[in-house]
Amino acid sequence: MTAEVSKGLTRAIELYQDRSSRARELRAEGKKVIGYLCIYPVLEMMTALDIVPYRIFGDLREPVTEADAYMPAVNCPFLRSCLDIGLKGKYDLLDGVVTSHICDVGSTLSSIWIYAIKPPFSHHIDMPHTLHETALTQEKGLLEDYRKALEEFAGKKMTAEALKAAIRTHNEQRALVRELYELKKPDPPLISGSETIQVIKAIESIPVDEGNHLLREVISEVKERSNGPQKKSARLLVWGSIIDDTAMMEMIEGLDANVVMDDTCVGSRPYFEDVELTDDPLDGLAYHYLADIKCSRTFRVNNYMDVRKDYMKDLEIRFSYLKDYADDWKADGVIMESVRYCDTHGYDVPGVRDYLDNVGLPSIYLEHDYTEGALAPLRTRVQGFLEIIS
Ligand code: SF4
Repeated sequence: MTAEVSKGLTRAIELYQDRSSRARELRAEGKKVIGYLCIYPVLEMMTALDIVPYRIFGDLREPVTEADAYMPAVNCPFLRSCLDIGLKGKYDLLDGVVTSHICDVGSTLSSIWIYAIKPPFSHHIDMPHTLHETALTQEKGLLEDYRKALEEFAGKKMTAEALKAAIRTHNEQRALVRELYELKKPDPPLISGSETIQVIKAIESIPVDEGNHLLREVISEVKERSNGPQKKSARLLVWGSIIDDTAMMEMIEGLDANVVMDDTCVGSRPYFEDVELTDDPLDGLAYHYLADIKCSRTFRVNNYMDVRKDYMKDLEIRFSYLKDYADDWKADGVIMESVRYCDTHGYDVPGVRDYLDNVGLPSIYLEHDYTEGALAPLRTRVQGFLEIIS
């Protein structure tokens, strides 16, 4: 950290390094704090009941020692890490946990967490994986069950007005994150990929209104900063699964590249579309969480029969937003990233690569085991990739 680092960024870095500090303070003041895994447990519904949503992350610097008793080593290393630190008591600040069917292993983790860690409150949203009309109806029904469970936990009703107000506040956060990403468009960008992860993790550790205040502070300070990232030869877009530590971005940005845009779940993915304010707010929320969020866990094609004979049409429907990102942020190449054993993203990698090849965007695929040690060999591969595209 240099003396020139702005206040907003300093606060974000403090929260990144000590995520639970503010949540513990709020809990001491009598607030309820609920942990959520992945980006699907509809945060607006917690905010509407004055519950603090607190995202569960892993820790790639902490060796997995306790989770082996519950999850085989051939499961998602990120989820194994989350469970491991949960078993070690590091999520003891939580009054409950909400999970969703992100993937089969994520669903299994939910049962293991309830069985082994025994949180006072738990709820699992067994959400569908397609966009069919019936899937939307099912998702809305699941959100009605979720609302009842949260109301029972909070001991009060969630009114439509409170839920709409929460949607507005979370939409404001989405708009602020998009504004922050605008600051990555100049060359060099005004904020780096690793700083962006610090900011996103910070706002996912505090109540949404405090996160919005922090974002405003970060944005105004970054706009004025004189110590931003250095100009590099390549501008990269990173697509993939979870990157919840600065280590990988620092590895990439330590080479001759700036990470100027991402499509990952500790990055732009949860923030780039607003929730529509519908008469029944659950309609807008069901659509948003199923259709708007572009994660590999949902097959985002309405009519599979239309596209199954036209591979490129299928890819265009699912991945054209990546070309838009590359165009808008002037990215020269794409790093596709996934933790090992992630079927969800792994199955999409050939399609993403074919799509990027077709639109002339060079790409490289990095798979890793969610440890710091995995980064050294990847560094050599990224270096080689940069030599090709620069
Ligand atoms: S990284 Fe992949 S396997 Fe792990 S939780 Fe996410 S979708 Fe599931």
